[in-house]
Amino acid sequence: MSTTEKLTADEQILLEKMLSGEISLRKIEDVADKDTSAKLRRSFLEAKENVSFDHISNYSFDTEAVAKKNIENLIGAVQIPLGIAGEIEINGEYAKGSYYLPLATTEGALVASVNRGCSIITKSGGATVRVFKNMMTRAPIFKFNSLEETKDFYDWIMLPETFGKIKQAADATSRFGKLLEVQPFVSGNNVHLRLGYDTKDAMGMNMVTIASEAVTKLIADERGTPCVSLSGNMCTDKKPSAINAILGRGKTVIAEARFSGDFIKETLKCTSEAMFDVNYRKNFLGSMRAGSLGFNAHASNIVAAIFLACGQDPAHVVEGSLCVTEMDLTPDGGLVCSVTLPALEVGTVGGGTTIAAQQECLKLLGVAGASDVPGENSLALSEIVAAAVLAGEVSLVAAQAAGHLARAHAQLGR
Ligand code: NAP
Repeated sequence: MSTTEKLTADEQILLEKMLSGEISLRKIEDVADKDTSAKLRRSFLEAKENVSFDHISNYSFDTEAVAKKNIENLIGAVQIPLGIAGEIEINGEYAKGSYYLPLATTEGALVASVNRGCSIITKSGGATVRVFKNMMTRAPIFKFNSLEETKDFYDWIMLPETFGKIKQAADATSRFGKLLEVQPFVSGNNVHLRLGYDTKDAMGMNMVTIASEAVTKLIADERGTPCVSLSGNMCTDKKPSAINAILGRGKTVIAEARFSGDFIKETLKCTSEAMFDVNYRKNFLGSMRAGSLGFNAHASNIVAAIFLACGQDPAHVVEGSLCVTEMDLTPDGGLVCSVTLPALEVGTVGGGTTIAAQQECLKLLGVAGASDVPGENSLALSEIVAAAVLAGEVSLVAAQAAGHLARAHAQLGR
């Protein structure tokens, strides 16, 4: 039996029990610590599948913490190259100053493109960024026996005193999460309750799930109505949806930058009109004809890269891609460019934000952990992500307007 790593006699016995089926990959943690369990799982797979894990076995995070909070059946880590773009000047309400952007990706030319966007935005006075809405949602579903019952429930939910009771139950589950809104959506005898929360520095999905469960218990006690499912998919978590694009989820953020016509000619080797034209025909007409929910060039590229670097939930790239990129000509021949991200779900506590490498990236941005005023770090992170998306959009649209896209990829050998 061949394994890359040296095993002690006790570990060898455990491995043999795993190979014989006596101990499962999951149950090994009952008899070994988390580090040893990960090593034994690797050795098990190497022996059984005839592979070697020289790279997967190399990592520096705290195995105990990660295996407890972030993953099951841990065997190691995959490495994603991390690049840096910037600096970019950001004039936000929470993110103010110059930032280097950590981007984890395997797509050649992406970091170079964002880097160029950062440079042109900074030379033109920086990105102005504002957060317009901040509300993480969970939407349990309730089923009723008749339309009369459904309408009774709807009327009860709309009472201000009902909101007060529901809020008390929800807010009691967290020191930080606060219920902001209860929005019912009815179809036939089904009511989806879209519950919206401020989750401060946390992205908030666990928090809102726990709080919403308390709401469903209160409804069961008060109305005798059991909840069919704690998530009825009108939240909507990790699926493309118009509701998130329209009503928002997490942070709704807009970033904007302005460029003079001369600057575009000299630096981007194209014209304001050409960039307007590409944006209109590609990002608007093309996206509309394709039935897309995102009207942008490659927002998800930047959202994914910065999410991976900073320990955000990668599945939320779905919502992050619901971006509208606008480019408008100004009367003096310049161009004003903006990105509107209606559903950017980010946090600086919880989830993957505590893993060592990801935390280093958050520290680079100055937003690691909980802020003195709860919520300000996650708001700052959302402004930084929006500015990064703007850099990526301006750069790519300019490259297409100048006919440089294929050339840039060819020069970088991809
Ligand atoms: P979490 O780590 O579950 O909760 C955040 C924790 O941080 C809470 O315990 C909170 O305290 C504490 N906290 C300390 N300082 C805080 C501050 N300044 N602001 C906010 N909270 C603060 O994280 P989460 O963001 O709610 O959930 C993220 C995880 O959920 C990710 O791993 C994600 O992948 C996963 N997820 C879960 C679901 C689901 O349905 N459960 C769905 C999608 C994703 P309190 O205890 O007082 O609240």
